[in-house]
Amino acid sequence: MLEKDDIKLLKLELERLEWELSLLSEVSNAMRSTLKLDQIFYIILTALTSHEGLGFNRAMLFLVNEKETVLEGIMGIGPHSAEEAGKIWNAISSSKKTLENFIESYDIFKRDSESRLNSIVKGIKIPLREDMGILALTILEGMPFEITNQEAKKLVDQNTQKALNTDFFVTVPLRAKDKILGAILVDNIFNKKPITKTDVRMLTMFANHAGLAIENSRLYEETVYLSNTDWLTKLWNYGRFQQSLSFEIEKTKREDGRLSLVMVDVDNFKNYNDTLGHMKGDEAIKTIAATLSSKSRKIDTVARYGGEEFAIIMPGTSKENARLFAERLRSEVEKIYADEKDIQPNKRLTISCGVASYPEDATSKEDLVMRSDIALYEAKMAGKNRSCIYSTGMEEKRTAV
Ligand code: GH3
Ligand code: MG
Ligand code: MG
Repeated sequence: MLEKDDIKLLKLELERLEWELSLLSEVSNAMRSTLKLDQIFYIILTALTSHEGLGFNRAMLFLVNEKETVLEGIMGIGPHSAEEAGKIWNAISSSKKTLENFIESYDIFKRDSESRLNSIVKGIKIPLREDMGILALTILEGMPFEITNQEAKKLVDQNTQKALNTDFFVTVPLRAKDKILGAILVDNIFNKKPITKTDVRMLTMFANHAGLAIENSRLYEETVYLSNTDWLTKLWNYGRFQQSLSFEIEKTKREDGRLSLVMVDVDNFKNYNDTLGHMKGDEAIKTIAATLSSKSRKIDTVARYGGEEFAIIMPGTSKENARLFAERLRSEVEKIYADEKDIQPNKRLTISCGVASYPEDATSKEDLVMRSDIALYEAKMAGKNRSCIYSTGMEEKRTAV
């Protein structure tokens, strides 16, 4: 026969398990609702720190950078000081926010993501070597570390201690199938609440779900990237160019701004290809693509429009500045291939550029492409190896040819 107290304990245990399961399912659902990596990181850390979640004071996420064999800090959520913690917790308990509310606040976090803790975590880079401390060991050994008593604390290295100013803490690896993607570190540095076995069990379950969600999202992002990229040059492809141009024109329209489009075509490329072979041709396409890419700004969209044709969307740029830019590209390519006298009709491998602007020359995407193409045609007709800007009247000339 069970004693009354036993029944009470069992009931409590059952309630606890029920809560754990519903929390896990709530967080898993939230993670499934998005494929954006940053958002998944935020959901994981929010579930670990919010009071309706596991309620740790701080949670930090680290990912393995395989190329450099280091563990990099990605995101940290939690107050920076006990004083800040008090303020935040008071605000939270008076606002009665649920876990769901917190997860939905991702956009606010993104705008204000430079919290002290987040900046500190983002600056952490730990080489994956056995002598580099607990976080590195979590990855190398693929197991959790519970630094929850004085004895265990002796294991803590100076690096982790200094960077995070931790006291007692737990780390768990983030796993996806048989791969270890990174680690999570949690602590209760401000309220000093002991970290229990149940906490660690829940944390491990969380980490397993989180690892899979991160892996799925990475695969998705890679697929999207590949489907938008030209395999030879690694520039954006035609499809992505069309998408970007629609987006940038809409944005420019809203902001009442301007935008320029530069179309680039390699001169006499058929001859180059036929003389030197397809491989050399591919090499030249790659070199020219890399030149266009390195000369453009971050906000420009550089795409391979077709075989030996490229397009560059330049938001906020006037027609004259786009022409100057096109001229820089032209002279740069001319310098690279200055000595092709036995091969090319004009003794070198060159490019021609056509420039048109929104809203000066065209107000629709199709017209803008057409007008910069007309300017490019003008450059070809004028002898190649030059840049032309669109002007009215060019169409008539073209149809007359
Ligand atoms: P123009 O100065 O009038 O532009 O003359 P062109 O010879 O460059 O133009 P045309 O359109 O006649 O030929 C383009 C050539 O570009 C045809 C093809 O041999 C070559 N080409 C297109 N795409 C690729 C590619 O991916 N790799 C290689 N190697 N060659 C390509
Ligand atoms: Mg062409
Ligand atoms: Mg050509």
